[in-house]
Amino acid sequence: MFDFDELNEECGVFGIVGHSDAARLTYYGLHALQHRGQESAGIVTTNGEKFHVHRDMGLVTEVFSSDEVSKLIGSTAIGHVRYSTTGSSVLANVQPLVFNYAKGEIAIATNGNLVNGDKLRKELEANGSIFQTTTDTEAIAHLIARSNADTLEGAVKETLNQLVGAYALLILTNEQLFVAQDPHALRPLAIGKLGDSYVFSSETCAFDTIGATFIREIEPGELLVVTQDNEMCVTRFSEPKETSICSFEYIYFARPDSDISGINVHTARKRLGRQLAKEAFAEVDVITGVPDSSTSAAIGFAEATGIPYELGLIKNRYVGRTFIQPSQELREQGVKMKLSAVRKVVEGKRVVMVDDSIVRGTTSRRIVNLLREAGATEVHVRISSPPVKNPCFYGIDTANRDQLIASNHSVDEICKLINADSLAFLSAEGMIEAIGRPSNEKNRGHCVACFTGDYPTKLYDALEVEETV
Ligand code: SF4
Repeated sequence: MFDFDELNEECGVFGIVGHSDAARLTYYGLHALQHRGQESAGIVTTNGEKFHVHRDMGLVTEVFSSDEVSKLIGSTAIGHVRYSTTGSSVLANVQPLVFNYAKGEIAIATNGNLVNGDKLRKELEANGSIFQTTTDTEAIAHLIARSNADTLEGAVKETLNQLVGAYALLILTNEQLFVAQDPHALRPLAIGKLGDSYVFSSETCAFDTIGATFIREIEPGELLVVTQDNEMCVTRFSEPKETSICSFEYIYFARPDSDISGINVHTARKRLGRQLAKEAFAEVDVITGVPDSSTSAAIGFAEATGIPYELGLIKNRYVGRTFIQPSQELREQGVKMKLSAVRKVVEGKRVVMVDDSIVRGTTSRRIVNLLREAGATEVHVRISSPPVKNPCFYGIDTANRDQLIASNHSVDEICKLINADSLAFLSAEGMIEAIGRPSNEKNRGHCVACFTGDYPTKLYDALEVEETV
């Protein structure tokens, strides 16, 4: 999947406790999580007395100079990278969000979307709360501040029990770091250790970057409370519900060098490609993948068929994120700037092009056309996930239902629309089997809602918003 009609992950979070170089390590951690959000980045540190904050729009390397990082004093830090789905793309919404309330300072970084965010917000506003941002995350701060619980831990638990949806959450005060995973564990969140310091990250790739050791994942409904001297109390705010990790983390979002539930993402993608080959073989000369996210699946497809994998498509890494596409003609040009077909590889060949998903279909058509213009005699498109027919309400920026090509077209129709010689998607059962999570739970612990419409939580206002768009 590539560019204009891709799915976008909302966020990545990172935290470290009691380390003399907390801000710098958080910077490196966020850099490793950059693929999860490119619109803004922020770090909040504490020295036990007060917060130091730097947040801005842009990539991690654009937001933080070495100078900025060294001003972030304190041995505990949380950081966030963001791609906005709820809340517009403005500085006020850049996380971690920082609040002052009667009991002191509090900073919140979260990955995922609440499905009852609007409902909570309306209730809080009706009771006098004034919101400074348009994000769900602010509702969490208001709920904590308004709680009558005796302790902050009690207030956090009470708050978490009012949230519905996806949230992998870090809450920092000058004394403690709270780390919570929603009862369905929709988004990944792992704990590691660097020396004596606990480290938390959306993905394990950030642990490798800073030399930390992976310990385990945060369990659904779990709340960890870590003091500045790395004393950790493991508690729960909710019984775990059906585990429903987003299957797109394996298919597309997570970095190939990350592990989720002990499964390496690259390896899972290769298995998806192998399964796809089993389900939808095509007699061709060359297999290629849409870089970078579909490369692993294309290799798996090639391995299973014995047909050579080739770099038929090359991504230009140096095209700016903010490339403006005002017209159809320039949009076509945009794809050519970002992706090239390798003529010597595909000319005169029958090609299988493996991609991880089709959202609106416009990009797929452009890539098929690139391969044809480079001389491919046949282009067979193979997708390493089932058709995306339903929107995501848990923090992935899918299109609205009416913009999802698979929600209102058959596979044959999509094949014609994207100008392919043939098209096949992986089955939901094949996908679940190929990812290979060691789980007896429903769908082996995956969320598959955007494929099947079977959402793991109630949808509250999320559905109403979708229906009125
Ligand atoms: S609906 Fe789809 S994209 Fe959203 S969490 Fe579930 S599997 Fe992931």
